[in-house]
Amino acid sequence: MTTVDRERSIARVAADVQELTGSAYTSTPEAIRRYAYTDVYTNTLDYFATQFEELGHDVSYDPVGTLVARNRPAGTKVFGVGSHCDSNRNGGPYDGTLGVVVALEVCRLDAEHGTNLPLQAISFLEEEGSGFGQMLLGSRIMVQRVGEADLKEHFRSLDDGRSFWEHAEDAGYDPADWRESIHVLDDLIGWIETHIEQARVLQDTDNRLGVVNAIAGYVHGDITVNGRTDHAGATPMSFRQDAAVVAGMCITELERLATEAGHGTVGTVGEISLSPGIINVVPGEARLSLDVRGPEDAAFRSVVDAISAYAEEAARARGLTASYAMRQTLPATPMDTAIVAELETAAASSGAPFRTMLSGAAHDTMCVASRVPSAMVFVPCRDGISHAPDEEADPADGALAAEVIFNAIQQLV
Ligand SMILES: [Zn+2]
Repeated sequence: MTTVDRERSIARVAADVQELTGSAYTSTPEAIRRYAYTDVYTNTLDYFATQFEELGHDVSYDPVGTLVARNRPAGTKVFGVGSHCDSNRNGGPYDGTLGVVVALEVCRLDAEHGTNLPLQAISFLEEEGSGFGQMLLGSRIMVQRVGEADLKEHFRSLDDGRSFWEHAEDAGYDPADWRESIHVLDDLIGWIETHIEQARVLQDTDNRLGVVNAIAGYVHGDITVNGRTDHAGATPMSFRQDAAVVAGMCITELERLATEAGHGTVGTVGEISLSPGIINVVPGEARLSLDVRGPEDAAFRSVVDAISAYAEEAARARGLTASYAMRQTLPATPMDTAIVAELETAAASSGAPFRTMLSGAAHDTMCVASRVPSAMVFVPCRDGISHAPDEEADPADGALAAEVIFNAIQQLV
């Protein structure tokens, strides 16, 4: 293990984060707001490009604008580090950006200590979906989990309605070559992404680092309940087919099913709408969203099957109907055991408290891991707050992540 000058490392991480909260890097002073192809996003990429070039890295962009910085020529094996530097529309300074800062710090430590590790940093485009409403967009493009019609037609700017394709061209990229993006991963022998945790587990267990051994898969879907619209005063209770009642039963049943499934399974109804949605009318229709996740596909998928069957049965018993429709799903992503083990060893030798844990949130690493052995490192964020201007993390924890990753990679190349 290389002993690093921690104070110097902390100062560099803090300075990067501080710089990128400046007015050149966010389109509003009230939050961090930057997304693909805006001036403030370009400024952010330029900042990182300059820093990597100072270390002697070659900086390039894939056909849609994902930044790649490497210290070896193409065709040479390299180890990947990075994250994303776009933000939620009402975001904070750390989500994503800290991961790119940590990647930069890993490269600085390598230069400072003369270890000459083969490294490639990546800052993925449009992870948050703030520009085009599509999460993990850059990494999904990279591993070809989109179609050309999506980029040309379906994925449209939330600001002006023009297509992703047009915006990419206007920004000087070559979206027609989007399939070439996959070659960014060609030379990677491994990949480690650093990210803030976005929950309170590390804070509440007094840990400074999380080594992620799996990213939860998820199902997004909707249950629609159809009953009958009636006057709320004139209709006796026994005469009703109230869709809201069945919706309410589904919410409590989902809580029970997810708890019973165990294995880190979680289930959430985050959206509910009642129709016609008027105080004195018995709702004739209810729609509720389902977000069900977990590290074990069989466990979380069985909850979706059970809740949709429950909804149909609960509705039928009251003379209503219910149906389930899926929106989107991704399988759980186990992390590479060898990389996880090296991260655990490096974390243990740092002397800082850490734990091995699950990522409940989705990350670009889910896409990278389909082609490259991958892992993630989590840094605590205060009270679990993310996607908000008061998001906060300790630069010392970011520097610790860089130290641990730097030491782990030395064992992995
Ligand atoms: Zn993020």
